[in-house]
Amino acid sequence: MISKRATQFTSFIVMDVMAKAEELERKGEHIIHMEVGEPDFTTPGVITDAAIEALRQNKTRYTHALGLLELRQAICDHYLKEYHVSITPEQVLVSTGTSPVLLFAMLAILDHGDEIIISDPRYPCYQNFVLAAGGRLREIRTCPEEGFQYRREDIARAISPNTKAILINSPCNPTGIVMSGGQLAEIASFDRHYIISDEIYHGLVYEGKARSILEFTDRAFVINGFSKLYAMTGWRLGYLIFPRKFSAIMQRIHQNFMISANSFIQWAGIAALTKAGNDVVRMLRLYDERRRYMIRRLTEMGFVIHVEPTGAFYVFADGRKFFNDSYREAFRITEEAKVGVTPGIDFGPGGEGFLRFSYATSLENIKEGLNRLELYLKKTGKIR
Ligand code: PMP
Repeated sequence: MISKRATQFTSFIVMDVMAKAEELERKGEHIIHMEVGEPDFTTPGVITDAAIEALRQNKTRYTHALGLLELRQAICDHYLKEYHVSITPEQVLVSTGTSPVLLFAMLAILDHGDEIIISDPRYPCYQNFVLAAGGRLREIRTCPEEGFQYRREDIARAISPNTKAILINSPCNPTGIVMSGGQLAEIASFDRHYIISDEIYHGLVYEGKARSILEFTDRAFVINGFSKLYAMTGWRLGYLIFPRKFSAIMQRIHQNFMISANSFIQWAGIAALTKAGNDVVRMLRLYDERRRYMIRRLTEMGFVIHVEPTGAFYVFADGRKFFNDSYREAFRITEEAKVGVTPGIDFGPGGEGFLRFSYATSLENIKEGLNRLELYLKKTGKIR
């Protein structure tokens, strides 16, 4: 029998859209992919070279369970340089992507029935990490006009004796919105509980700069990784920063469940943090050009973008004047317009009526995809 817990895991709808798009491609259709949340760039050469060099030097054994000391030190140096916060290597766990460290953070803090405060909409996998660790979700509906940010009074109302942590994500998937220092300070004022801050899109910011929760409190678990900023999704490398008292337990969790992250890939991670600055600048310039173009075109078509997205590589566009059922609409757009898009409902009921467009594809593709979308809206009588 399949366990009751396993049957509760929700599926990642974007993957279903991608599967549909691929099925159409196999039939010879040409699809523009704006559903995928994955950089289109290849991994910078300085990073690939470091991995090859590490392999040549036979860096192919287990590492320390928390990760290579050199990489953990580079992560500490990065947080010091970027955010002026001082952390030490005992507070860092390196694993195979940010996804596993999300699970390990939940395992470290949740007992059966404990609650995590989470926004609706949000990144769809979060809920399953909470469930896997025996926790429960306490969802707060956020509203588009406020950039889908928590309201202080809603958090205060949602807190119960079972609350263990408040989860935040800035720059945000799916909205692309970056929280201000003031908003982070307000969340940090609830630090009788832990704050879990998913900072995986840090660095991908086109106006101003993302602030880290660690600038405001040290009762925080920070999730970060290499997938997005360094175009390293397939390398599987991420990390967790945690309060010092969790050091021994994190080591024990990782020893048991993973032993260690891949060693030669950790050496590549050091190169990413220390040598890939120019590559990041190049990718940022291109993402920003695409972002501006996409916002302009979607707005011209009649989608509403309530708060300008200034981070990550997504635009979360309000299409409620065109449709109510984002799931149906996303599949229709994929099949009829030949453009893959992610339905807002993937991110929770609070995302219904929205579509997420990813600009992690070339400007040329974005232009063609949006032309097709516009034509589809005309053909279906949604716009003139
Ligand atoms: N958090 C968010 C908000 C994401 O969008 C993703 C990837 N889609 C992840 C975490 C997981 O990233 P990875 O496991 O590749 O580090």
